[in-house]
Amino acid sequence: MRLSEVTVHTLSSPIKPSQDRRFYGGVRRLHKRDFVLVRVETVDGLVGYAPGAATSSAMREYFDGTSHDNFATLIEDQVRDALAHTEIETPEDIAKTIKALDLPTKIESEAIGVIDVAYYDILGKQLGAPVYALLADREVDPDPLELYASAGMYMEPKGYAEQARILQDRGFTAYKYRPGLGVEADKRTLRLIRDTVGDEMDVMVDAHTWWKLGKNTYNFEQVVKLLDTFEKVNPYWVEEPVEPADYDTYQRLANQTALPLAGGESEETVEGLLRLAETGISYLQGDTRHHAGFTGCWQAIRACSDREDITFVPHNFGTQLGLITNAHLIAASPESPMLEYPVFGEDKGGMYPFPLAEDILHDELQLENGALEVPNGPGLGVEVNENVVEEYPYIEGAWTEFIYK
Ligand SMILES: [Mg+2]
Repeated sequence: MRLSEVTVHTLSSPIKPSQDRRFYGGVRRLHKRDFVLVRVETVDGLVGYAPGAATSSAMREYFDGTSHDNFATLIEDQVRDALAHTEIETPEDIAKTIKALDLPTKIESEAIGVIDVAYYDILGKQLGAPVYALLADREVDPDPLELYASAGMYMEPKGYAEQARILQDRGFTAYKYRPGLGVEADKRTLRLIRDTVGDEMDVMVDAHTWWKLGKNTYNFEQVVKLLDTFEKVNPYWVEEPVEPADYDTYQRLANQTALPLAGGESEETVEGLLRLAETGISYLQGDTRHHAGFTGCWQAIRACSDREDITFVPHNFGTQLGLITNAHLIAASPESPMLEYPVFGEDKGGMYPFPLAEDILHDELQLENGALEVPNGPGLGVEVNENVVEEYPYIEGAWTEFIYK
């Protein structure tokens, strides 16, 4: 396969008016959500798509260095030029070519990721096979994929509980939320959610918020004690309770808590992901957008598949194109039990409006009772709606701000 065109569209889905979410010692302000759409064309005129990573600007406050703009320019110039002169026979050719450019680590992993995903989309279209069959290297007839509802972003305790109930009524069997109201209120919140939804619904705590509280950031001892009290309420996992790449602290915490830990979305590379898998966490959350595409995540899936103590469950927090991409990973590896489904919308069940998340796909996804029918058409099996390029022009600036008191 020879690539001729690589186009990167940076888009924004505005949140109007901006929303303020209170946390312990500050306010998080939400202005918009950004999205990067990558379109790749071969010399034969076949087209493949890939979602870019959300982290480039979304997490700029925490992970310095790169913006969506830089990413687009790098891909459209350097990466395209390098690939235009490369005959791609295997995905390894993509990684090798991009690594030779000596890009910053995180950008390199993301750049390989988008080209790798688009490559698989094209390859599937060429061969008339869904990506999951190419990854599994056999005939696969996947069952509907169980989705867990991911919402709950800095709310009052009863807001989380109410939201969990709404999502339970919609058929979801698991709910993930983001606390950060202070240690005591975080304890109350989990108890209230459990009392509201009962034992039937799994509840995951996404605790990246705990190390984003500025001077109120919970220290190690506070986290250990908090997890001790959480034990009675039986959360399914506690996600990112430790800052990214702090493998020693992950290990210490895993040794001191009985609760399953999860993490991985913020790792910059596949190597980082594999290293995190050795710290004693129970769920590894790679993402095609962050971890070198299908090829990189597949490596992590293989590393987990022989082990009893860790399960690969993809991270997924962008548009439905990202959802579908990660869904192919799971469809190819049935030992991964479920997929993150971020719930957006104006109503109480959603985090905030993000209409681009759905508009990116031409057709509506087959979602029923918290399960997704993985598209079985060639490649990713979905038609990308390129009208979004006109409809969601990029808005300058960070999508979110943390304002500390
Ligand atoms: Mg998370």
